Amino acid sequence: MKSKLVVGNWKMHGSRASNEPLLAAIVQGRPYGCDVAVCAPFPYLTEVALAFAGSDLRWGAQDCSMHEQGAYTGEVSAGMLAEFGCRYVIVGHSERRQFHQESDQLVADKAKAALAKGVTPIVCVGESLAQREAGETDVVVKRQLSAVIHTLAHCAGEMVVAYEPVWAIGTGRTASPEQAQAVHALLRTQLRAATAHADRMKILYGGSVKADNARSLFAQPDVDGGLVGGASLKADDFIAICRAAG
Ligand code: PEP
Repeated sequence: MKSKLVVGNWKMHGSRASNEPLLAAIVQGRPYGCDVAVCAPFPYLTEVALAFAGSDLRWGAQDCSMHEQGAYTGEVSAGMLAEFGCRYVIVGHSERRQFHQESDQLVADKAKAALAKGVTPIVCVGESLAQREAGETDVVVKRQLSAVIHTLAHCAGEMVVAYEPVWAIGTGRTASPEQAQAVHALLRTQLRAATAHADRMKILYGGSVKADNARSLFAQPDVDGGLVGGASLKADDFIAICRAAG
């Protein structure tokens, strides 16, 4: 059976003081019976890497440049992340699409840049509340994923996909297991048309995953784990979510 994957997205949270006990608790909480990773802000990546060294825990970044190197002040390349062991990079998070005007094609180019350096992109797709209410969910997520599939071409099977309905992120309003499964099944069908590896690919659900709703979400046949924001900052909650996936 395919192991599930739980990824913590710290967003722009953390401090030297709070990271240490959180990371120590995640290390202590093993084994989880699933793959676990933490995506931290850039300045803390070395700290996460050191805390997780020698364990099966993985770590990742929350964004990368589409460029390999050059005069792009403030950007971080996938090659720089790969150089010291970064396993994952989140691309296309709705907060970047919304606040940094990232287009579907830019997200796809970032995913390609990551894969070229051996870093697995976690590609986020998801509809806004207005789009859901207008019945546009399927069209929106298919369009977002399609750009990545076309750009990655024969490497499409190597990405992780995260379905994150924008209306559920940080709002406490989680998609029901049935709502999540319906979109995940749609994405899986789209992936099957593009790659022979679709059934072993991971499609994560993200959006107010909590200790008390994780198990029912992860029980859905096409939900292969979670991308967890707020709850990944609290050791007990994150550990409980990881255990629910195990
Ligand atoms: C996220 O940031 O990817 C996320 C899903 O956040 P939250 O779990 O807080 O909704």
